[in-house]
Amino acid sequence: MHADFNPPAKNPRITSRKPTITGLFFVTLTPSVLPTDEEVDEALSVLGMKAGHCVCAYCGGKKSEWDHFRPIVLNRRPTGYITEIANLVPSCGKCNQSKGNTNWRKWMLSATATHSPTRLKLPDIEERIHRLEQFEAWRTPIKIDYAAIFGPEKWAQHMRYLEDILQLMAQAEVGAESLRKLVEAHLRK
Ligand SMILES: [Zn+2]
Repeated sequence: MHADFNPPAKNPRITSRKPTITGLFFVTLTPSVLPTDEEVDEALSVLGMKAGHCVCAYCGGKKSEWDHFRPIVLNRRPTGYITEIANLVPSCGKCNQSKGNTNWRKWMLSATATHSPTRLKLPDIEERIHRLEQFEAWRTPIKIDYAAIFGPEKWAQHMRYLEDILQLMAQAEVGAESLRKLVEAHLRK
């Protein structure tokens, strides 16, 4: 293949979006509590940062967003953690994406995860881990028991919607595969 030519991915699968859809089913229920300016200052101070000099808490790179420190979704279930200052740390996009739903310490020490501080061979990993431990101990995070709030029926209905959608996606994928074969056969004519 030509060195200049990198075409779009060939035939992405409908089912490849299952994790995204599953995540959205729980992220969509997750409340956000906006922090006061004082709370943001306090969080930054716990992380060893000053206002106006806020960087990625994981790698020290340029901050582009605040990352859910403890994941919102794990193993296709909500963890109960929400969007609030006790569960958010400043992050760069690369760290946020690489960390995903992994435990923050496990990810930081991972030698295989793309862009993990260990993989990047950052010299101050221990210090960063220590600061994040301080942050972890700073406040008890809010943890929601969704099933208890909604009751078993409403919760079961929400989970059924998810299962139905995932199953429909799988069926649609099988259908799409046979349709694609027809198109390919048509092209060969
Ligand atoms: Zn980073």
